[in-house]
Amino acid sequence: MNPGYQIIERLRDFHKLSAQEYRSLLENDDRDFCDRLSKEARKAADGVYGHEIFVRGLIEISNFCRNNCFYCGIRAANPSLERYRLSKDEILGCCRKGYTLGFRTFVLQGGEDPRQDDEWTENTVAAIHKEFPDCAITLSLAEKSPESYLRLKEAGAERYLLRHETFNSGHYSRLHPSGMSRERRLGCLESLKSLGYQTGAGFMVGSPYQTLDNVVEDLLYLQELRPEMIGIGPFIHHSSTPFADFPDGSVALTLKLISILRLMDPEALIPATTSLATLEPEGRRKGILAGANVVMPNLTPAARRGDYALYEGKAASGAEAAEGLEELKKELAAIGYRVAVSRGDCKRSKASN
Ligand code: SAM
Repeated sequence: MNPGYQIIERLRDFHKLSAQEYRSLLENDDRDFCDRLSKEARKAADGVYGHEIFVRGLIEISNFCRNNCFYCGIRAANPSLERYRLSKDEILGCCRKGYTLGFRTFVLQGGEDPRQDDEWTENTVAAIHKEFPDCAITLSLAEKSPESYLRLKEAGAERYLLRHETFNSGHYSRLHPSGMSRERRLGCLESLKSLGYQTGAGFMVGSPYQTLDNVVEDLLYLQELRPEMIGIGPFIHHSSTPFADFPDGSVALTLKLISILRLMDPEALIPATTSLATLEPEGRRKGILAGANVVMPNLTPAARRGDYALYEGKAASGAEAAEGLEELKKELAAIGYRVAVSRGDCKRSKASN
């Protein structure tokens, strides 16, 4: 048997590999091998989640950000962006629309906007929780103190997405200005986990200066952290950032990594991300077939979607839009999957966490 196949089987059966083994998976571009990896990953996802795909309504609540991440289009230093922040009532309006469409998880994502402080966020989360007690609230509002995370959890947030971006400290400092620290980011993830949030980590595939060894370090970190949610998507350049001239990340490598992550953690919630669908028209479908089990259609008011421009050409229409849910259902039905009207929790029991 091809020795690569044995490594796939080891990952499938034991959910852990060494750095060298991950490296060899990443370096093997043989077509049959990649097909096998992807099929095993899909089988692992089916074994836990069947043919159901979870949807989350994504609400981009503000594109103001105090940070200056070199890759991100909503960085503070980008002057060519119309800035907006949604009010609590606008956000509740998005949730009402989403609930009618069948969404039972709302994801509030935004830049680090000082005006949306703890008190405002706590009130907003509490209002959503009160009106939609059967829905899960996920936050993706970057770095906060443990006290703030606790306050938001007590208000009703249960899940938090915070990509670690890269585990390697040298690489982290090439992606972020000196005021930001990899230690603080990893510390935030530790706090989120210890507070009992369902936690999401992840990274961009093909971010500038990323090496294969960096990707291996990311895999080992995720293998150890075992977050309930893992978000990865290709880096896509934005012309008003310092990384305007860097090439976009690889769709093929992203798909391969989705499969590796699925075999590493069959119960993880892994989205087929918007950036994947932006770079490749079939990205969502391919992401699902590679082992993803979550899609996050956009519920942000249509007039604002264009301003939440993390990267060039970001998809926000068709099946990426909440209104396009019927289109998404058809797209998934064509490959034998259906959208679940449910909160879509991680199927890992707390005891095994
Ligand atoms: N501010 C919050 C945070 O930092 O977690 C949430 C918003 S942030 C824009 C969400 C994610 O978008 C980041 O974690 C990053 O991985 C991704 N992102 C930003 N710029 C990107 C780009 N140019 N290409 C692909 N993904 C990007």
